[in-house]
Amino acid sequence: MIRLCLFFAFFAMLDLNAQNESQNSKVNILLVIGGHSFDTLAFFQMWDQMPNIEYTVVKHPKANELLISGGFEKYDAIVFYDMWNKITDSQKTAWQNLVKKGKGLVFLHHSIVSYQNWDFYLNLVGGRYHDSTYIKNGVKQPASDYTHDLEMHITVADKNHPITKGIDDFTIEDEAYGNLEVMDQVHTLLNNNHPKASPMAMWTNESGKSRIVYLALGHDAKAFQNQNYKLLIARSVNWVRHKL
Ligand SMILES: [Zn+2]
Repeated sequence: MIRLCLFFAFFAMLDLNAQNESQNSKVNILLVIGGHSFDTLAFFQMWDQMPNIEYTVVKHPKANELLISGGFEKYDAIVFYDMWNKITDSQKTAWQNLVKKGKGLVFLHHSIVSYQNWDFYLNLVGGRYHDSTYIKNGVKQPASDYTHDLEMHITVADKNHPITKGIDDFTIEDEAYGNLEVMDQVHTLLNNNHPKASPMAMWTNESGKSRIVYLALGHDAKAFQNQNYKLLIARSVNWVRHKL
């Protein structure tokens, strides 16, 4: 009888462990939006379908106010789908502290347009969409541009990276960004072969102790409903928080 009780106790313990594991595996992310309109219904439908991810949304101008009050701390990762330029010196310091502590950051699509005049952000994301012409190494560079609804062939540049592993080259209909500035230090995950698009479609970067991902794709429902797009984002969230 004692042996039987031990037998059931063992399985009860296993069950408890499984429950704890499923509770612990819920990832809490903060989604930062604002400054650019988007297909909200399809965007949040995509997040609702993400397995094991719970999200809280903060919209500018509240986002940087939340950051400065320490409100980003409790999240496992922060995902940016915003386009914002207004920032105070104390908010800049809070951003820098976030990276010093190693918070994982995922930047999507138009978030690369944010903070046009703040070079810390350029180095953080690993690139910039320039609203106007600019000078780099003494040479005038063209402004960035965009083209909607292009059928694009995306190729996997690093087939061994945890984010892209097992994902084949794919086509996606989406908006292309052209003439992006991309920093030399980034690690390319995806390339875009369309002549109107910048050659790099996705990369990783590091800043302070933070892992960073930028994914240029993601204008509307056509991207949000693409299985590879969803998978790349879900993996990016786990990679930036050192769980992949
Ligand atoms: Zn767009």
